[in-house]
Amino acid sequence: MHSWTTTGRDYGREHISVVFDGMPSEPFWKTKTLDELNRAEWESLCDGCGRCCLHKLEDEDTEEIYFTTVACTLLDAGTCQCSDYVDRKKKVPDCVFLTPEIVRTVDWLPETCGYRLIDEGQDLYWWHPLVSGTSETVHEAGISVRGQVTAFDHDLKSDEDYFEHMVRVAGN
Ligand code: SF4
Ligand code: SF4
Repeated sequence: MHSWTTTGRDYGREHISVVFDGMPSEPFWKTKTLDELNRAEWESLCDGCGRCCLHKLEDEDTEEIYFTTVACTLLDAGTCQCSDYVDRKKKVPDCVFLTPEIVRTVDWLPETCGYRLIDEGQDLYWWHPLVSGTSETVHEAGISVRGQVTAFDHDLKSDEDYFEHMVRVAGN
């Protein structure tokens, strides 16, 4: 089995803060649950790592899921962004749009994923664009898939070809 999924990719990410009586309050990701986020907050919570845009393999015996370094055909391996985010479902029907329920259900989101961190009551890391103020830090910290993609799905001829690109258990 190989499938791919993502959502919440960041386009036009902005710093989002709430001002009350002239004093900045705690940032939204420290005070809201995933279910309480508005659209802009939800989108900005994606750190842009691109890790969920890599194909995964499932061991049918153990049900363990492994990441590969094979990227979805729409992933830009340099920016780690989807190259057609708005219409991605038309071109990649298996691309899963994350929702709070899906975040809680799937076991392949990396432990660094902004959605997973907030759902687990943790804070964002220093390199998250919402914290650092720049989308470059996710790459500088080595969290993104920049430089890690070894193939695109459209390059591979058969399912067996994915095994050559298997790297680690998903969810770590
Ligand atoms: S793993 Fe999470 S933070 Fe990274 S690109 Fe996917 S949705 Fe965004
Ligand atoms: S369609 Fe875009 S968002 Fe979906 S897996 Fe592919 S690159 Fe990622």
